[in-house]
Amino acid sequence: VEMDQKLQERIAKHPCYSEDAHHHYARMHVAVAPACNIQCNYCNRKYDCANESRPGVVSELLTPEEAAHKALVIAGKIPQMTVVGIAGPGDPLANPEKTFRTFELIADKAPDIKLCLSTNGLMLPEYIDRIKQLNIDHVTITLNTIDPEIGAQIYAWVHYKRKRYRGVEGAKILLEKQMEGLQALKEADILCKVNSVMIPGINDQHLIEVNKMIRENGAFLHNIMPLISAPEHGTHFGLTGQRGPTPKEVKELQDNCAGNMKMMRHCRQCRADAVGLLGEDRSQEFSKDKFLEMSPEYDL
Ligand code: SF4
Ligand code: SF4
Repeated sequence: VEMDQKLQERIAKHPCYSEDAHHHYARMHVAVAPACNIQCNYCNRKYDCANESRPGVVSELLTPEEAAHKALVIAGKIPQMTVVGIAGPGDPLANPEKTFRTFELIADKAPDIKLCLSTNGLMLPEYIDRIKQLNIDHVTITLNTIDPEIGAQIYAWVHYKRKRYRGVEGAKILLEKQMEGLQALKEADILCKVNSVMIPGINDQHLIEVNKMIRENGAFLHNIMPLISAPEHGTHFGLTGQRGPTPKEVKELQDNCAGNMKMMRHCRQCRADAVGLLGEDRSQEFSKDKFLEMSPEYDL
């Protein structure tokens, strides 16, 4: 499926969204958002949010000031750096002060850098105006199901406005907010990608319906990611013994959806503090003890 010209231009320099660009342009994630407002059954809270990141990775948590310093240091050292994203280690919108402060500091000094954020969507309607104001270029929503009964198997609870909801009730609230969020992004003309974690026996066949729904609601790219279930990452909270899909199963599902819309096939499930081109990981080169000693391109 071909994308229209205008959309292609908008994403041309984005390493995640354009397969050509991922060899030439770099991105970084800054890990400023530790808290989360839902409990996915596949999440192990010791590690980065599994909705965007590679399970089993512990990213170095930064304050907004440290994160902005790091982004500006790296923008000076890696000229291909076009995008700074916040994807964890928890949910960026469950940490709104930290997330938006970080974006403000970066946007103020380096307005050319594109900003992105990745969220479970629960608080997206709440913060859509901030997202617009800050000129955030694109948002990723992780949306694993459009059926609250399936949602009840994936989410243990959802914490919304000071109350904790379990089972179908929680899954319904999450879905409602995700749908409102999709709509709000569309109205604001902010690019929206959807991530779905493929969980065999739970939502694998159902993701075809998810794909249809998000396409009708304006998402431009669907990224189906395998559940990575390895014993060394710890027991998944509610999915003990749950296997991940085989590469063949992932590809089949992606092919089944590809008739409908553009599928993302080169996502690397990067760490919440990833730095560099998509195929490389330079996060150690810019660890906290190192980047704090380097001067940023611009004064903070
Ligand atoms: Fe974990 Fe889910 Fe929250 Fe991500 S959104 S940190 S996977 S509970
Ligand atoms: Fe891009 Fe996927 Fe990495 Fe996010 S996790 S920066 S979408 S490749």
